Amino acid sequence: MNEVNVSAPKGAVLATVIVPFAGLVAAIILSWGKGIDLVSFGLFAALSAMRILGITVGFHRLLTHKSFKTVPWVKVVLTVMGSMAIEGKPFVWVADHRRHHVHSDTEEDPHSPNAGRSGFLGALKGFVHSHIGWMLSDSRSDHARYIPDLMRDRHVSFVNRHFALWSALGLIFPAALGFLIEGTWTGALLGFLWGGLASVFFVHHTTWSINSVCHIFGSRPFRSKDQSRNNAFFGYLAFGEGWHHNHHAFERSAKHGLFWWQPDVSYLLIRLLEALGLAWDVVVPSQEEVKAKLSSGRSG
Ligand SMILES: [Zn+2]
Ligand SMILES: [Zn+2]
Repeated sequence: MNEVNVSAPKGAVLATVIVPFAGLVAAIILSWGKGIDLVSFGLFAALSAMRILGITVGFHRLLTHKSFKTVPWVKVVLTVMGSMAIEGKPFVWVADHRRHHVHSDTEEDPHSPNAGRSGFLGALKGFVHSHIGWMLSDSRSDHARYIPDLMRDRHVSFVNRHFALWSALGLIFPAALGFLIEGTWTGALLGFLWGGLASVFFVHHTTWSINSVCHIFGSRPFRSKDQSRNNAFFGYLAFGEGWHHNHHAFERSAKHGLFWWQPDVSYLLIRLLEALGLAWDVVVPSQEEVKAKLSSGRSG
């Protein structure tokens, strides 16, 4: 019995792609003509920021790459926040992402837009595959091989086991807030749609773009075999994750925006946790290490 190695059925994956989109459409229809109200926008922005930080700081920099250490309750909170993005259980997410780093842009990479593709049609198919299609494939990342540490971690295992609960809470919470602030059922519905489904839709496509767009469009200042790119648009939108080529060059670094013109909100949160005594052993490469890896002495 290896329950933890079972990924979500394809129907459930399809539903997590389609339902948030339907929620976004419903939210737009309900707000049509009068524009999005302040409460709905606030819930959308706050819940989206929470979900993105859960993925970038929690799932990615803490669980996948061990870029810093923290206390158990912060690890649990960040992993719950990431689970609320509804893009897979933490075990599955981390196993897939570690496999991506081991096999970047080869046939073994779970979501390369480039491996085995050529021509315009190949590029288009590669984009769709890396953005969404790979989640519907039969390819699985072996948990025993990729995440033995997380399977032993009782805090992460706890969050992983109750993934459905966190997913649901992430939708119920903004609905409850909408109801409390507006005092009407319409307020609850708008909170559910804007802070719940529309936010999940936005966070999905923003973070999935790191797999697709950030392996196609952008600069590559470092020597590397993979096709990862630094993409400024997603550097801003995905709270620093768009500096994805930097990340492939320095996988364990807690800081992805390695140069002063590359803002990295996720790293700011890690620095804040560090200042509060809640994070330590924060991994960041030295200036010399960064310079030594630049391919031509230029940077960007
Ligand atoms: Zn990574
Ligand atoms: Zn990558």
